[in-house]
Amino acid sequence: MLGLMQSQPLLISSLIEFADRHHSDGEIISRRVEGDIHRYTWSDVAKRSRQVANALDGMKLAFSDRVATLAWNGYRHLELYFGVSGSGRVLHTINPRLHPDQVVWIANHAEDQILCFDMSFLPIVQAVHARCSTIKQFVAMCDADKLPADSGIPNLISYEAWIGKQSTQYSWPQFDENSASSMCYTSGTTGNPKAALYSHRSTTLHAYAAALPDVMGLSARDSVLPVVPMFHVNAWGIPYSAALTGCKLVFPGPAMDGKSIYELIEAEKVSYAAGVPTVWQMMLGHMKPAGLKFSTLKRTVIGGSACPPAMIHAFQEDYGVEVLHAWGMTEMSPLGTLNTLKNKQLGLPQDEQMKIRLKQGRAIYGVDMKIVDADGKELPWDGKTYGDLLVKGPWIVKEYFKGEGGDPLKYDEAGAGWFPTGDVATIDESGFMQITDRSKDVIKSGGEWISSIDVENIAMAHPAIAMAACVGMPHPKWDERPIIAVVKKPGMEVSRDELIKFYDGKTAKWQIPDDVVFVDAIPLGATGKMQKMKLREQLKDYKLPTA
Ligand code: AMP
Repeated sequence: MLGLMQSQPLLISSLIEFADRHHSDGEIISRRVEGDIHRYTWSDVAKRSRQVANALDGMKLAFSDRVATLAWNGYRHLELYFGVSGSGRVLHTINPRLHPDQVVWIANHAEDQILCFDMSFLPIVQAVHARCSTIKQFVAMCDADKLPADSGIPNLISYEAWIGKQSTQYSWPQFDENSASSMCYTSGTTGNPKAALYSHRSTTLHAYAAALPDVMGLSARDSVLPVVPMFHVNAWGIPYSAALTGCKLVFPGPAMDGKSIYELIEAEKVSYAAGVPTVWQMMLGHMKPAGLKFSTLKRTVIGGSACPPAMIHAFQEDYGVEVLHAWGMTEMSPLGTLNTLKNKQLGLPQDEQMKIRLKQGRAIYGVDMKIVDADGKELPWDGKTYGDLLVKGPWIVKEYFKGEGGDPLKYDEAGAGWFPTGDVATIDESGFMQITDRSKDVIKSGGEWISSIDVENIAMAHPAIAMAACVGMPHPKWDERPIIAVVKKPGMEVSRDELIKFYDGKTAKWQIPDDVVFVDAIPLGATGKMQKMKLREQLKDYKLPTA
């Protein structure tokens, strides 16, 4: 017997229609590429998304055709999120920090039909447009009078001219909720990039779950600043959850430096922010010397790479901001776990609570996870045993776009397919997961594993260290020994021996790095993550003093 409830497909258009009807005057604030602050409402987003949809219909774009963006977090990008997907096309957010050759490869692989870009990225588009064989129309996301006359890009139009002539009325089409809605290529370190292809169903379910109080906990009372880019896994789904909750959204545009972000938080009374650790590192680096404090910021989600405990302490103790440590992947839309304490843990002493908060958190309903050994056997949840982390759920990929890389899943005895995350983790009795490492970054010393994240976290707690990356170096006796590459904070000093001594009592002796290498910068990838492969290349002539 079937239930007798209405069946309505979960479509992205329903999110913007809801925001329009119930939060029409909710504010959307954007710092624009031009430098000024743009203000409008959810009602305006809805109107202009409908204009985008009409523009795409006018160009006869087919269902599921791809529309690409090279854009910062801003209001026009938000309109494309809803207008492109809502009308049945697929939004392909391209990471502008990729090498132009990779942009070409990705745009051709996705068979993008249109590319909308912020004017900051005009040089990239000028460099690549002739090689993007499927793109029929380039759209500069600017006012009509700002369109460069001599861009060299054939038939270039401005976004405002493109949508400006369209009707603000549109009847969103209804279709199968499993239809593709958006796509994002992973920053994969080997081989060609592979794309996660999200669906309306996966995106809407993810938006629901993300808004739960123990997940992102977004609400209509919040003023939310997603620093995490809209070109990186849909800004962790915040644009969708924002429409669902009607929160105020504050977009930083291209100004991602600590000072600009801090000023925006204060000016727009931001209560909630989200971003990767490197961004917050810059902001705290700006605030501390100037003695600045937050007047409204209450919570921040930090993820994308391990949040150093020193940062969680600083936010909480120096600034009264609660850090929600989160973990996820492009392949997971991206949310997998988020760290909020359970009722039974609230009575624990502060230091015990802090130990839990440092972990990557517990699974959200919609994500099932387990750790397994090399034979695929499930390992215990004791907080000590570590293994390969596998996940499954309705917003996790089952395969990559165009079947790239074959079937990525691992199947259990019951035939259920699990996605191997490539992360190594422990899970404790209460279900809190802690990432030990990327499986390829784990250091194997004398048959024991050393977590590079643990080694980095200790260095990051030293007041003179701005950034730290731990890698294994070949050793004749121990196979590998850890070394730590560090960037010093400007004007601060620490010697090799002082830093090594700093590890005393903080970790087991054999886990203390054998050496310190001072570097000007740690190579960062397109999504702000440390690129250890590049670092290892840079250190290829390095010789361990202990070897
Ligand atoms: P991406 O798909 O580019 O977002 O990268 C996903 C990977 O980032 C994960 O598989 C983890 O290795 C890493 N990652 C994400 N969040 C965290 C976190 N909170 N702690 C440690 N690693 C993380």
